[in-house]
Amino acid sequence: MEQSFPRPRVLISRCLGFAACRYNGQQLQSRVVEQLRDHVDFVDVCPEIEAGLGVPRSPIRLCLQDNAIKVWQPAESRNVTAVLQKAAVDLAQDITNHDGAILKTKSPSCALQDAKIYNGIDNPQFLQRGSGIFGALVLERLGHKAVEDEQRLSNRLLREHFLIKLFAWTRFRAIKIAPRMADLVAYHAGHKLLFLAYNQRRFRLCGKITANHERLPPEEVFLCYEQELGQILQKPFLSKSMINTLYHALGWISEDLSAREKRFIINTIEEYRDERIPLQVVTRLIEAQAIRFNHGYLLGQVLLQPFPPRLNDLSDSGRGREVK
Ligand code: SF4
Repeated sequence: MEQSFPRPRVLISRCLGFAACRYNGQQLQSRVVEQLRDHVDFVDVCPEIEAGLGVPRSPIRLCLQDNAIKVWQPAESRNVTAVLQKAAVDLAQDITNHDGAILKTKSPSCALQDAKIYNGIDNPQFLQRGSGIFGALVLERLGHKAVEDEQRLSNRLLREHFLIKLFAWTRFRAIKIAPRMADLVAYHAGHKLLFLAYNQRRFRLCGKITANHERLPPEEVFLCYEQELGQILQKPFLSKSMINTLYHALGWISEDLSAREKRFIINTIEEYRDERIPLQVVTRLIEAQAIRFNHGYLLGQVLLQPFPPRLNDLSDSGRGREVK
């Protein structure tokens, strides 16, 4: 059963398929961005165009000088720090209402963590990797939401985590527009199994916030919940915790199943534990049983379809990037 999903609002580097705005007049194609086009509302930005650097343009680089990061355009012997910073601040002004961002890896403007930083401006030596000028602002204002670079999203596990997070934030934004306690209670209940797999302790804290024994105004309760939500979804779930949650979900229907059916689902969960099948195989199997028995509680759990099933994609870059 395919549910309806809200449309996330996602900030994106314009060169990732929206315009040929790279320094060399080209644009890039990203598989995940193409897949997302039908499901999200992208807001594309290019800080270097906003800064008036034009297309094509000579490349820029980040240089550490006098303990400050400068943006240098070597071919023009030009310091473009001020214009790029102003453009970045202008573009980052209204982004707190976005549900996430996909930014271009390694760019001195857009990179989240892997732009090259050089030591000094004359005869610069590579020093370290860090955020680009705009990427740093995005992390500061939106870092608790679904924020990634396009290259890390080619890793299947990081992509799965990104999508779960993105749609959880979008559902939260939808109820935050006009905060009502009944909506927050329903949100919390619907995300129970998913959040238990992510972080049990934080989930319980959210439960206390939702109970609102202090009788705080809904606006205040939503703000507290939002802070905890950022913590719950900060890191990808551990497969051990997810397996416990899957058994928990199975517990809701196990009495209705024959011994053979139950054994089949248990074997499938164990295959997931052994990393022989993806999570979606298990959740779809449980969902099929929930539909069969018209099990309202399970069918209301986001865990079974945390994001549109059409976005399930088993491809993996195999880059072996560390999951953070
Ligand atoms: S990486 Fe950022 S600044 Fe560079 S072309 Fe793409 S959108 Fe523009």
